[in-house]
Amino acid sequence: TNEDSKEAKTPRDKLLGGILTADFDEGSCLSRYHKSLLYRQPSPYKPSEYLVSKLRSYERLHRRCGPDTKAYKKATGNLVLDENYASKSVGECRYIVWIAGYGLGNRMLTLASVFLYALLTERIILVDNSKDVNDILCEPFPGTSWLLPIDFPLMKYTYAYRYNKQYARCYGTMVNNHTINSTSIPQHLYLHNLHDSRDEDKMFFCEKDQIFMNKVPWLIIQANVYFVPSLWFNPTFRPELVKLFPQKDSVFHHLASYLFHPTNQVWGMITRHYHAHLSRADETLGIQIRVFRKDAGYFQHVMDQIVSCTQRAKLLPELATQEVNMSYTPKVKAVLVTSLYPEYSDNLKNMYWERPSSTGEIIEVNQPSGERVQQTDKKLHDQKALAEIYLLSLTDNIVTSSWSTFGYVAYSIGGLKPWLLHRPKGNKTPEPPCVRSTSLEPCYLTPPSHGCDADWGKNSAKIFPFVKNCEDVIYSGLKLH
Ligand code: GDP
Repeated sequence: TNEDSKEAKTPRDKLLGGILTADFDEGSCLSRYHKSLLYRQPSPYKPSEYLVSKLRSYERLHRRCGPDTKAYKKATGNLVLDENYASKSVGECRYIVWIAGYGLGNRMLTLASVFLYALLTERIILVDNSKDVNDILCEPFPGTSWLLPIDFPLMKYTYAYRYNKQYARCYGTMVNNHTINSTSIPQHLYLHNLHDSRDEDKMFFCEKDQIFMNKVPWLIIQANVYFVPSLWFNPTFRPELVKLFPQKDSVFHHLASYLFHPTNQVWGMITRHYHAHLSRADETLGIQIRVFRKDAGYFQHVMDQIVSCTQRAKLLPELATQEVNMSYTPKVKAVLVTSLYPEYSDNLKNMYWERPSSTGEIIEVNQPSGERVQQTDKKLHDQKALAEIYLLSLTDNIVTSSWSTFGYVAYSIGGLKPWLLHRPKGNKTPEPPCVRSTSLEPCYLTPPSHGCDADWGKNSAKIFPFVKNCEDVIYSGLKLH
């Protein structure tokens, strides 16, 4: 890098170990350069120089191909004129369009996955702007935009229904129907990477599929899973991934610190709550409680599970039977609870108010919101969700709920190895109540059953020692370690 560059003159911490560019104006997105101030210690996970240089060259490519460029106009023009099969050569820019769907955790995991795929294949990522991405996240790439212009020709109708497995250009469906013809290249393809995807959909990144797909200028992807662990199955991507991420369990951690910067409104919510409840405590603990069942709400067996997990792991003290003589200034441990339901934190708060703790520590319990029901795409609701994900990431230790992408994003951004609360069966507290994760990566909840090409037929959790089943989804999930 150039010695005189803005990056070289800015403190490394402020740029989160060099992963951020110094090219943005600070006021328009305070979180970008102020985030490092709230972290109690600098992250022990440093981005590789190779990742940093790859990001800088991606930024140049995005500026050249992004909305409002000649290249973008040409590429979209081709889409309109030539909906069917292209006779034209592919222009210099190729794109992947991310469609927003599901909750915020799902969205952040898939944005990071799609961005990494774009980095590996030299495509431009553009994000569906029909939802409120812009109200919660700042632009990540300087001098351009990642928002898909609203007049993009393939986004004019109601897409939720249009892009599905029945869509004529759905890649997995074309593979199944043997309608892929390597001599006629479509202008666009749709990739369906949801929980109901078939192996044919999930394995679009394999080497032989990529030979064809690389020639297609527009990919449109709908996803709700963190598909990063499976990208290692492609032997062409693998050496590149190893160089980008020598520490394999911090892929999402780095991608998220590069891509996700809460808007000023959300940052205000984060910093106000942080200074009110967390910054002055001697220690902090985050507990994220997600209840996956139709009649979700407060359950005694879940409450018992939280207490038993945190006490056994020595994250929270037991209760004492006798009042203690408090002639010294006690240590304060702040517990940040996030949940749709306020009852869990109310109970925890009462528990530690009504009785002293056996260690003499004071336990201060706080919960920013209790929205009761998921209201994705309502601006303030989504802003609160992002604020809480970030607040959780700022705690010293974290307990999260199995299967919850909200929790995955929080611990991974924080560089924390979480205690995962097992998913209860019926109304029983699981035994053991939780398990410590050995990785800070999110889990790919519904991965392909096997590997690419040479590893076809080989169980996808048995191909590499560093791609293993998740602690919380034993028989199907995949996680990098
Ligand atoms: P997942 O369903 O647990 O995998 O996580 P998602 O984030 O994809 O979807 C859940 C959505 O419900 C969130 O995005 C929020 O809108 C809402 N939600 C769930 N738990 C919480 C919480 O603890 N706090 C807030 N503010 N919202 C939550």
